[in-house]
Amino acid sequence: MNASDLATHIGRFERVDVDVAARARSRAGRAFIMRGARLQITGDDAVPSFIACVPGEVDPAMPFLGVDEAGAPLYVHLLDNESPLDDATRLSDLRMELGRYTPAMREAIVTALALARWSRSARYCGACGRDLVWEIGGRTKRCTRETDAHRHFPRTDPATIVLVHDGDRALLGRQATWPPELYSTLAGFVEAGESAEGAVAREVFEEVGVRVDDIRYSSSEAWPFPRSLMLGYTARATTYDIRVGDELEDARWFSRAELREKQSQMTARMPHFDTIARRLMAAWIAGL
Ligand SMILES: [Zn+2]
Repeated sequence: MNASDLATHIGRFERVDVDVAARARSRAGRAFIMRGARLQITGDDAVPSFIACVPGEVDPAMPFLGVDEAGAPLYVHLLDNESPLDDATRLSDLRMELGRYTPAMREAIVTALALARWSRSARYCGACGRDLVWEIGGRTKRCTRETDAHRHFPRTDPATIVLVHDGDRALLGRQATWPPELYSTLAGFVEAGESAEGAVAREVFEEVGVRVDDIRYSSSEAWPFPRSLMLGYTARATTYDIRVGDELEDARWFSRAELREKQSQMTARMPHFDTIARRLMAAWIAGL
């Protein structure tokens, strides 16, 4: 089987337990190709490149992601080489292109990306300094200590993203590196010892100088850039004067009508950018 014979679509992606994973490994499967922290894709429609995985010959160092709709295993082939195979392939900018995929494909790709990024930084055991190796059939690593090897789980850093509003207006900011006129919700990492709600209030004050309360959870999104879990919130402002901090170039209050316009600009500039920021904005515009 060569790459062109492989199905390029994933209709369903399922994480499975260790027993199911062991059985799945006895079946023919396929592997995404991750070069560095970038996914190898083919053509303008960003179809992932796959390599075929023959049962019994799967590299034990190849992390297992889960199974597709047919129960066939999905892996990720991790390569250090950061150049594409040939002229027909290229490397995806997943920050921009992730929204092009179906939810199942996106979840599989995000899992592959998260493991690839973690693997690059998790080369040695933090407890004893020995090399780390992937555990067979799993998404974890262990160190090479002969007795009581230390086990290592992929790390995820919680971050918050929040739509701040005053009932009639929403507060959005923009970073200097973004396309002109693009504004979005405010985001920041949760610090050690801090609650997610505490991070929302602190980040909003640091970034725009506004105090908030009535902080409500909305939904979350895996965002492996580099390894975040984005926790989405709405919050009501209790002060209204904006003082832009170091992280943003500008911040402004927008009416619902203006926000609709911003949303269409995001659609125009990032056509496939299906993100939690846009979901938060869409829900607020709809009055939810
Ligand atoms: Zn160790």
